[in-house]
Amino acid sequence: MFNKRVKIKDLLLTEPIGQEAVVMGWVRTFRNNQFIALNDGSTNSNLQIVVELGKYDETFLKRITTSASLKVVGHVVASMGKGQKLELKASSIEILGDSDAEKYPLQPKKHSLEFLREIAHLRFRTSTFSSVFRIRHSLAFAIHKFYNDKGFVYLHTPIITASDAEGAGEMFKVTTLPFDQTPRKEDGTVDFNEDFFGRATNLTVSGQLEGELAATALSEIYTFGPTFRAENSNTARHLAEFWMIEPEMAFYDLEDNMNLAEEFIKYLIRYAMEHNREDLEFLAQRLEEEEKQKPQAERSEMGLIEKLEFVMNNDFERITYTEAIDILLASPAYKKKKFKYDVSWGIDMQSEHERYLVEKHFKKPVIVTGYPKAIKAFYMRQNDDGKTVAAMDILAPGIGEIVGGSQREERMEKLEERMKEMHIPIEEMWWYLDTRRFGTVPHAGFGLGFERMVQFVTGMTNIRDVIAFPRTPKNAEF
Ligand code: ATP
Ligand code: MN
Repeated sequence: MFNKRVKIKDLLLTEPIGQEAVVMGWVRTFRNNQFIALNDGSTNSNLQIVVELGKYDETFLKRITTSASLKVVGHVVASMGKGQKLELKASSIEILGDSDAEKYPLQPKKHSLEFLREIAHLRFRTSTFSSVFRIRHSLAFAIHKFYNDKGFVYLHTPIITASDAEGAGEMFKVTTLPFDQTPRKEDGTVDFNEDFFGRATNLTVSGQLEGELAATALSEIYTFGPTFRAENSNTARHLAEFWMIEPEMAFYDLEDNMNLAEEFIKYLIRYAMEHNREDLEFLAQRLEEEEKQKPQAERSEMGLIEKLEFVMNNDFERITYTEAIDILLASPAYKKKKFKYDVSWGIDMQSEHERYLVEKHFKKPVIVTGYPKAIKAFYMRQNDDGKTVAAMDILAPGIGEIVGGSQREERMEKLEERMKEMHIPIEEMWWYLDTRRFGTVPHAGFGLGFERMVQFVTGMTNIRDVIAFPRTPKNAEF
């Protein structure tokens, strides 16, 4: 019977001085054969266990090593030592699992994030990663709360799709066909009639198109699920498997869409500030130390908490793509040829351009609207100028693009015309076009990259450190 266990977080919160308590956890450190710092993952604060001198023999004490797991029964007493208000005077200690100190890869010292990525199965046992994953959990919960409170319907869109028209990125194929004896048609191409689904299928890159089908009946929906992109980009903000939140709303125009996205991001930040204060303070501290290693010019002006408060309490800047290009062209960075990629109207802004706008120019999140239609997807609503679409991207300091969205083209003729221009197979998309055929409505939506949001809130600079087991080019360990 393990259920009488009390979590260390609750114990530290309720301070039941004088009472008996049962705790379980993993040893972080053991000092002077007397003080065990025990952690059970409910908080970064360890519980100090006081071991009575002389009560246990040497062989037993030797087994209390870093990461050994223990069950401890004892009395909660006020602590004389500094650093903690209370401690547990052990009356019995049971070793649930030994841990060979010689072989255990995590030592009670600072390890680099790169090293910890190689032992991702154990990195949850560090303060940094347990904080990150508690915050990730909190944000996931807050996402559902935000949309549920607004009456949105949570929609599960398929992971395996036959549609490849979205064009959001390279896709992973899903097949049961054998590699050695692939069935071929007469012209030599693969015969997908023989495949599991009787057609070519892929892992989804976005749930948006299916989201639109539901939104044009339920009016407001959101998805929150994994998406896959076989893009070979080895950056600190791209994963091959990542989670995305995609709300889709009937009767929303671009401005309603922007307002919702801004409110949503601020809500998530506020939620973490209210529910994960201790973890955020820990990560802020860690970031501050990391910053000290950098040259003065590269250090961020604000600490993590300060940054989150600032974003929560200030309006996002809203500019058009054309204005963004003008700002870049007039920038000292452009004039001094600091950008690697050239700037002109029509470019797909590179991360260096996006980061200049948010980090150097505006110093706050920026919503850019009215992108050239040539660089955006077919379903975005065409503006009257004939050149731009009602798209909006939200750019965040330290991250770059965090949200991509648009008002959708609801006018059948315009949509078909654009699909033809972009060689999107209209017949195959009959189900999508039915939404425009039968009672079409103005509607809009966006996608928020969950890991990029977790990066923003935790201040972690590499996206591989905010998902438990990252999938990136040449890496699918664990
Ligand atoms: P980027 O230009 O950064 O590759 P994108 O334009 O391909 O992004 P969208 O297709 O608009 O992105 O996807 C919506 C959101 O999903 C993005 O704003 C971003 O937050 C997130 N996202 C996109 N690709 C990735 C990825 N490979 N890994 C993690 N998050 C991603
Ligand atoms: Mn991309």
